[in-house]
Amino acid sequence: MKFLRQNSLRLAILLSVIVISIQTGREFHQMHIVDPIYPNPCEIRLLSDYFPTLKGTAGDTDVYLFEGDSPGATILILGGTHANEPAGMIAATCLIENISVETGRLFILPRANNSGFTHNDPQEGNPQSFTIRTTAGERSFRYGSRYTNPIDQWPDPDVYEHFPSGQQLSAAETRNLNRSYPGRPDGNLTEQIGFGIVQLLQKESVDIAIDMHEASLEYPVINALVAHQLAFDLAAEAVLYLQFNDIHFNLEPSPEEFRGLSHREWGDKLGIQALLMESANPLQGRYHGKVTAETVTSGLDKYNMEAAHSGLIEVEYPDTGIPLDLRVARHLAGLNQIFTVWNSYNENKINITDLPEYDDVLEQGIGAFLKQPTGER
Ligand SMILES: [Zn+2]
Repeated sequence: MKFLRQNSLRLAILLSVIVISIQTGREFHQMHIVDPIYPNPCEIRLLSDYFPTLKGTAGDTDVYLFEGDSPGATILILGGTHANEPAGMIAATCLIENISVETGRLFILPRANNSGFTHNDPQEGNPQSFTIRTTAGERSFRYGSRYTNPIDQWPDPDVYEHFPSGQQLSAAETRNLNRSYPGRPDGNLTEQIGFGIVQLLQKESVDIAIDMHEASLEYPVINALVAHQLAFDLAAEAVLYLQFNDIHFNLEPSPEEFRGLSHREWGDKLGIQALLMESANPLQGRYHGKVTAETVTSGLDKYNMEAAHSGLIEVEYPDTGIPLDLRVARHLAGLNQIFTVWNSYNENKINITDLPEYDDVLEQGIGAFLKQPTGER
């Protein structure tokens, strides 16, 4: 009897282990499935086309190229440098699914750090994904992490030392793509992704490169256009016109002493016009409550609302929240204005059609500008 009881206990434990392993294994696998994007006619390349060492690694990522019939300016746009800042990735996806280019060339990386989309931050209880309602059905998108997945790059050093400046940062920043530029070919995976992006910028003679981010409400550089000194005039005029249209942007110079960031290293190394845009994300920073798939898109967080009432945050936080629709609309408006200002001063132009307008995105929601889950319009 005792023998039977012991064995049935072992069998029950074994069965539980198998069931848990299958379930967690399935969830782990699902985190590595890349969400579909349904591009308008364009060429799809890989980052590894520019730096072959990335081929087959978690750092390789899709590069969408829209090329006009007439030659003109070459632009690079990054979304998803930080995979827990969805507005940049969704704005990039929205471009890919809507635009065509008449003059010039536009390169878009919607998931600049692809590895960051395959996990999320430990002990935060963040959702694995969120959904956006389109004209027919919901699309699901991964909600990831600021950092490269430790499964792809481990262990972290005690202190992260940026190459080549030697500037020291906390350990986890070694997996932060936006502290890893200009990167190096024999570095860790994050440095290799940075190096691959710099190779693309160089090989394609990019004129303007724009990195789309989000930041927490208490962070001073927010709702901002951050510009390398070479891009400062362009950014200043773009911000002015955005203000005329009641779209408030702060103009921020890229700090010269703060190394590894896109807007600093791209400009310094390649002499291109390097810019970074930040929208205000209520689910980042120190004050927010639980992040759910709903709050990712609604931008409603009661603790940040209380912080706003106490004067602790840097931006206006209306009772209607700061929804994803608004944050994506701001990125699209910023891009549109940067292109308009560029075109007014340069012979080599960038002309894009069907770039969704700010007011239309606010009115209809971003889902109206994403294709259906089947890929149809
Ligand atoms: Zn960011």
